[in-house]
Amino acid sequence: MPTKTADWQNVKTSQDMPLPCEMKAWVLGDPEELSLINKPLPVPGKAEALVRIDAVAICATDLEILKYGTPALIEGGAPFNKQFTPGHEYMGTVAALGPGVDEFKIGDRVTVEIHAGCGQCKRCRMGMYTSCHNYGLNYGENNKGHRANGFTTNGGFAEYAINNINTMIRVPDEMSDEEATLVVTAGTSMYGLTELGGLVAGESVVVIGPGPIGLLAVAVAKALGASPVILVGTRANRNEIGRKLGADYTIDARSEDVVARVKELTGKGADYVVDCAGTEITANQSVHMTNRGGRICLAAFPKEPVSFDLGALAVNNIYLYGIRGEGRSATHRAMAFMAEKRFDARHVHTHTFPLQDLPTALRYARDRVDDAIKVVVSMRETQDASQEAAQ
Ligand SMILES: [Zn+2]
Ligand SMILES: [Zn+2]
Repeated sequence: MPTKTADWQNVKTSQDMPLPCEMKAWVLGDPEELSLINKPLPVPGKAEALVRIDAVAICATDLEILKYGTPALIEGGAPFNKQFTPGHEYMGTVAALGPGVDEFKIGDRVTVEIHAGCGQCKRCRMGMYTSCHNYGLNYGENNKGHRANGFTTNGGFAEYAINNINTMIRVPDEMSDEEATLVVTAGTSMYGLTELGGLVAGESVVVIGPGPIGLLAVAVAKALGASPVILVGTRANRNEIGRKLGADYTIDARSEDVVARVKELTGKGADYVVDCAGTEITANQSVHMTNRGGRICLAAFPKEPVSFDLGALAVNNIYLYGIRGEGRSATHRAMAFMAEKRFDARHVHTHTFPLQDLPTALRYARDRVDDAIKVVVSMRETQDASQEAAQ
């Protein structure tokens, strides 16, 4: 057990989950430069728990943070050379409870969503905590207590992380660690459909871009009763996975006229479009495939300005929404679907590596080695080995 400093005095721990004084954690130095170091075990505060990380999935946004720094924001600036641990799609086991926490027990398996907003700004009060006005304000004199793990606070490429209890969701016993890491991705897809109005039963939904969010948007739309669900992609193997997740039709963007095909399948065009690619081509396709009065959700973050047919948007009374992350407790709704096995998110998980092989895992995700989609880093092997050593 850690030699308890004053900080640990009001923290609840258990003999069943003995805690080390230090933990292994990857930290970001210069861009793309990660090193595995020992860090002191972080101490959970009020409304927080210490989570032993059991598995963490790699997201395209992690790769972006490692290279460009954004959208991570540490102490008001770029995340480089600040002992910052990235990684945000993780799950694990509750290992210690901050003062007054009785919502969870030590030993509970949980998966986590990323953002605990400040809880006091206008957007947080509306449930839009991923758009918190105090993003990144968790330090210094104006500390608003905002947390976005792996973005503004330390994340999951480590053995332990702190989480606000509002961001923790219980994992059913029969769900694997790897599947549980995918709940936050499904939560992002769910948030997109929630922001579009949510009531998509019997309405046509087109998803453009079969990355993890797009593929799970197909699954969530289907589970919500959308009909038909159409997936647009450039790679046959990804479209095939989309069909397994519930796409009624897939369109090969390389060989077919995407807009004409959507109109053929839907009559007057799509009621809802979720654009997970965010390129000039897909933005224009989205506008032209949406029927009058329909809605488009942009679920990608293009780095450059994108030119698109704004006039067609206005003259056809089309609504355009942007989403960031997974607000309004969408991750809880995604877990409800996954716990009921309404879709099998495991179709998007392709590879697993141990924690010490994070650089290889990142390379698989970045270069799509061996058709990688979701690459997961698992701590199980390391935990089993250290348990054996202790015996
Ligand atoms: Zn992510
Ligand atoms: Zn806020």
